[in-house]
Amino acid sequence: MPSKTVQETIKKLNFYAGPAIWPREVVIEAAKGLLNYQDSGLSIAEISHRTDTFAEVIDGARALIKELMGLGDDYSVLFLAGGASMQFCMVPYNLLPHNGTAAFLDTGRWSEKAIKEANLFGKTAVVGSSREEGYSFVPKSYVLDNSYAYLHITTNNTVCGTQLHHIPQTSVPLVADMSSDIFSKAMDGTQFDLIYAGAQKNLGPAGTTIVIVKKEILGKVKRAIPTMLDYRTHTKVSMFNTPPVFPIYCCYLSLQWIKKQGLAAIEKRNREKADLLYGEIDRNSLFDGTTAVEDRSLMNVTFRAKDEVLEAAFLKLAEEAGCMGLKGHRSVGGFRASIYNAMDIEGVKVLVELMKEFENSHA
Ligand SMILES: *Cc1c(COP(=O)(O)O)cnc(C)c1O
Repeated sequence: MPSKTVQETIKKLNFYAGPAIWPREVVIEAAKGLLNYQDSGLSIAEISHRTDTFAEVIDGARALIKELMGLGDDYSVLFLAGGASMQFCMVPYNLLPHNGTAAFLDTGRWSEKAIKEANLFGKTAVVGSSREEGYSFVPKSYVLDNSYAYLHITTNNTVCGTQLHHIPQTSVPLVADMSSDIFSKAMDGTQFDLIYAGAQKNLGPAGTTIVIVKKEILGKVKRAIPTMLDYRTHTKVSMFNTPPVFPIYCCYLSLQWIKKQGLAAIEKRNREKADLLYGEIDRNSLFDGTTAVEDRSLMNVTFRAKDEVLEAAFLKLAEEAGCMGLKGHRSVGGFRASIYNAMDIEGVKVLVELMKEFENSHA
C-alpha cells in the first residue's frame, strides 16, 4: 500500500493528453522496481534484458495483452520503439505493395499523418473524411471494396475528441491506431489484423509502442524491408535487440492493474466519467462541446468557452485549483480534458465543480 507521504506528494489532477496519468499504485510499484526489483538488490532497469527476470516481465505482458483482447497464437505482440508515429511508416512498409492501395478513414490529425507516410509506399484511398468539418465527427457512410491492401482506422482521435464507437466490418485486413483508447473498454481483438498503440496515453510512460499483429498478413509484399522495420524480425524471436525495458515493465504493471479491475468495470467507469463531464458541458451556459454528440470520445473530452475571451480565465482558475493539462491542442484551441483509465470519477467531479463555479462568477 502507498504510504501517506507518497500519496501526499501528488496534489494535482492530471488531464494531460499524453504522456498522461497512470494509476497511482502502478507509479509506486514502478518506482519500487526501479530502486530494487522484488528485493533482488538490483533495479529492473539495470539488468540484462536476456535474464529470466526480464523474460518473465515481457512474456507476462504479452500474455496479458492477448488475454485482455481474446487473442490466440495466430497473433504476435511486439514492444517496439519509435512511438506510434513509427507505425505510420512500418505498416505500409510491411503491408502495402507498390501497386496496391491502402484505404483510410481520415478522422483527425493522426490519420492524416498515417496517410502521408503510406503515400511513400503505394497508393492511398481516403474512403471517408471529416477534415473539411474540422474533424468534428466520424464519417459513417463509406464504401469499401475488397481490392484494398488494408483499411486503416484511428479508433480514438486524441486531438479533436472523437471516437469510433463502431468498428467497421470489412473483408480486407483491418489496421487500427489505438494509441489513445487501448484497454479503455472490452474489445474483441480478433476483428483486427494489426493494432498499434503508443504506451504513453493509456498504459504507461513514453518509450514503447505495442504492436499486435496477425502473423498470416506478413510476408506478402515484395520489397526489401530493413531488418528493424520488418515485423517478422520481431515476431520470429522474442527480443531481436534491447527492448525499452523500463517502459515495458511499467506497461506490465498497468496491464495487471487493468486485469484486476476488469475491462467491463473500466469501461463502465470511463462512461460514467465522460457522461458526467459532457453533461456539464451541455448544461453550463458558458461552455460548448466541439464534436458530434454520437461520436464524442470517452477519453479526450474537448470543449470551448462560448466566449473565447473567457478561456484564459478558466484555465487560470483550473490551474489554481490543481487541474493541469486542460488546454486544447494547439491546432484546435479550447479545452481538452483527457480522462484516461487512471483518472478517477472524483477527479472529474472536481473539474465539473470548477465549471459550475466559473459559471456562477461569470454568467
Ligand atoms: C499520440 C498519438 C500518436 C503519436 O504517438 P507518438 O508515440 O508520439 O508517435 C499517434 N496516434 C494517436 C491516436 C495518438 O494519440
